[in-house]
Amino acid sequence: MTANQPSRSKSEQLYEEALKHIVGGVNSPSRSFKAVGGGAPVFMKRGQGAYFWDEDGNRYIDYLAAYGPIILGHAHPAIAEALATAAASGTLFGTPTEWEIAFARKLKAAIPSLDKVRFVNSGTEAVMTTIRVARAYTGRAKIIKFAGCYHGHSDLVLVAAGSGPSTLGIPDSAGIPVSLAHEVITVPYNDSEALQAALERWGDDVAAVMIEPIVGNFGMVAPKPGYLEQLCRMTRDNGSLVIYDEVITGFRFHYGGAQNYSLFEDHAAIEPDLTALGKIIGGGLPIGAYGGRDEIMEQVAPLGPAYQAGTMAGNPASMLCGLACLDELAKPGVYEGMERLAIKLSDGISDLAAAAGIPMTVNRIGGAFSTHFCDHPVTNYEEAQDTDSEQFAAFFRGMLKQGICLAPSKYEAWFLTLAHREADIEETLIAVKNIFNMHTKL
Ligand code: PMP
Repeated sequence: MTANQPSRSKSEQLYEEALKHIVGGVNSPSRSFKAVGGGAPVFMKRGQGAYFWDEDGNRYIDYLAAYGPIILGHAHPAIAEALATAAASGTLFGTPTEWEIAFARKLKAAIPSLDKVRFVNSGTEAVMTTIRVARAYTGRAKIIKFAGCYHGHSDLVLVAAGSGPSTLGIPDSAGIPVSLAHEVITVPYNDSEALQAALERWGDDVAAVMIEPIVGNFGMVAPKPGYLEQLCRMTRDNGSLVIYDEVITGFRFHYGGAQNYSLFEDHAAIEPDLTALGKIIGGGLPIGAYGGRDEIMEQVAPLGPAYQAGTMAGNPASMLCGLACLDELAKPGVYEGMERLAIKLSDGISDLAAAAGIPMTVNRIGGAFSTHFCDHPVTNYEEAQDTDSEQFAAFFRGMLKQGICLAPSKYEAWFLTLAHREADIEETLIAVKNIFNMHTKL
């Protein structure tokens, strides 16, 4: 290096190296900085509580929480202990273990719509299998999903809406046959009429309606009052199953699923037939789970004709860490604490934006929220898309520079964890204020 060359960060050097060996330099595209102007993503080295440190030794307050799972904060002692137990007792047997039963019991106790569950290794797998099971149970092929909801990377759910409000899907990724995409109908979220129209048109072929009951993938978006009730009623009247993708929402807002969260009054009216879980329930280890009513779950092998299996499924490390995570989340006051901090932070950001004359919509549910650079409400994907991407990118980079880590996408949420403290919120608000002051119009 010559004297005038600016020194490159370790992250930049690692990224250059990673690009040679890992496709795109990242093991999940959401980790790349493509949506925020490109360049090297930050390579993290270690985490503790609400913080992680990059390879250059810079500390960040973490609101990414690994896209949701790290709700206890990093390196939580309960998880460290569970992992040590798994490491000492053997990490994989390929046989059933008692931990799987204990975990299944715990999930069932927290989410009453689960008569039976099955553990898998990711949210993608969990969702993918709920679709197979719904198709097996109903003998129908099509599914209805909602624009902007993300359900992992299996073929059927990587399908976008066609050009109309209720049309057969088009593949959202290369490698998905059009014939498969035609088994998927995409309609706008929070729009009962669009769903009704789709059911009227394709109803006899629809195996299931798949939804994030509270959206976490185009910001945090709550269903309008009565929407889930209507959705469940219309779907069941049509002889189709309701599938909730609770991969983000499971244990995020309270000890249980969105389906039994206090935001909703009539839980019986919004209970799904099948639920997919992941993220938080693994305490930071790979996991997914799906479950539902007995007569539907009986479709699954070895009881029934719908096949699903997994070498790593229900592995002791994921079970023990998941159990430990849920035990921490069951302690009194845990969710209230996260919500209190989320209110303080999201209200603070709103106020700072208003003071600086920067249009911003903040959607908060419990201890999670999203910030949208726009002057209109965000209740569906179209509205979430109609926000200022450049402003978000500048905001993201300004925050990162000041040691605050958000997800590098305008569609992702801020997640509070058990490890965040008032001082972190204050530090974050100072960083926000600095950015808004510098660029009244970012
Ligand atoms: N469903 C939802 C709602 C998700 O947000 C995600 C991941 N962000 C998935 C499914 C897929 O989970 P995984 O990445 O564990 O496969």
